[in-house]
Amino acid sequence: MPILIALLLLFGATRAGADEAPHYTLRYDANARTMAVALCLANAAPALRFSGDDSAPRNVEAPLRSSGGVLERDGDGWRARDWRAGECLRYSADLGRIGDAQARRSMLHARATITDPAGWLLMVDGSGDAQARVELPKGIAISTPWIPLASSDGVRRFRIPHTPADWLGRVALGACDERVIAMGGGRLHVALGAGVDLAQRDKLLRWLERVGHAAIPAHGRLPLTDVQVLVIPVGPQREAVVFGQSTRGQGNGLTLFVDPAQGAGEFDRDWVAVHEFSHLFHPHLGARGAWLAEGLATYWQNVLRARSGLLTPRRAWEELADGFVRGARDTRARARELEDASAAMERDHEFTRVYWSGTAYWLDADLALRRASDGRMSLDEVLRRFASCCLPSKRAWAPEAFVEKLDALAGSDVFARRWREYRALRVFPAAPDLESPADAAIRAAIMRPLPAPKVEG
Ligand SMILES: [Zn+2]
Repeated sequence: MPILIALLLLFGATRAGADEAPHYTLRYDANARTMAVALCLANAAPALRFSGDDSAPRNVEAPLRSSGGVLERDGDGWRARDWRAGECLRYSADLGRIGDAQARRSMLHARATITDPAGWLLMVDGSGDAQARVELPKGIAISTPWIPLASSDGVRRFRIPHTPADWLGRVALGACDERVIAMGGGRLHVALGAGVDLAQRDKLLRWLERVGHAAIPAHGRLPLTDVQVLVIPVGPQREAVVFGQSTRGQGNGLTLFVDPAQGAGEFDRDWVAVHEFSHLFHPHLGARGAWLAEGLATYWQNVLRARSGLLTPRRAWEELADGFVRGARDTRARARELEDASAAMERDHEFTRVYWSGTAYWLDADLALRRASDGRMSLDEVLRRFASCCLPSKRAWAPEAFVEKLDALAGSDVFARRWREYRALRVFPAAPDLESPADAAIRAAIMRPLPAPKVEG
């Protein structure tokens, strides 16, 4: 094919792809705390379905088609026939009511309106990522997991990843303080909820920068280019960080609930933030894979803090050894298999067993990889390869597919073989010997501070 025609076809196809993306215009009324949504599509379609999560039918108010065409309720969504080119779906959502209802069930009582966008932002079933322009009143900031796009006219523009509607995400609107921290080829989009003074704000930003750098492993990059970091002050607490959560709905985000009055030293001692950052290195693994996900974050929270100087290597090994003791204590006699305990964790609260069994898995695998390769292969390197092939991921991975992929990337069988063994355990795994002289050099290498990362991109 002549190059010119090939280029024209390619260019034409790219243009058509961008034009076909669903396009939102979102207008926020800060007094009424309502969002006016217009969802427009360039192309005609014989039939379309719009849906959000199972709360969307209650939250989407008076949806109407700009053509006046019929919109039928269909399960958790709406169906439209004979959609016209350029047509829009318009409705509003009372984010104040939605956010207040969610805040009563959690710690989200910040002076911002915080909602899960899957509850009110209808998506076009089967479509790819969408684009959005957001119009905000003066003095109102927005924090989203969406990918910010360049904007020349002061209007905020985003790409909205199309993820499953049941993945939690957070959009905060209000008097937040927004900052972008650029690091490791990516950007942390930090929003600090209202209620922190200037000195506290500086302290929190410095802490997030340290945590972010700690979470960039050997390859010197964040695994994702854009990460929402929503910091919510929750008043006086015994610890600097009371609770953290990583979210994947419509993009990757971390929510950290903090007591901003705690000293900088207390923030340095925190492990929650590094743990949540560590969840960025794996895809969504579902309830059956929660032991892998939580084990990775728990292993990594200690390794990464040691490497960045937030912990001594000795302390990091002690933390791991203590965790294995607690995990073993939490594993009841004739317990069900680890994978079943993982699947039922939210209901039955075998958290300690599930988290620390998973931690033993990753340490065991990391040691085995390093032993077999004379230190040339490591969990860092495998996760780096995984991030470049497969992250961010907009779908869930079956745990077996994830470990098989890691083996393919490492040229090994350590991950899948151990996964088959660990998932069926009814006892706590035989945690690796943390004193073994044969592994002393490998243990030192695991916790060794990293050279300054190469600056890439
Ligand atoms: Zn976790």
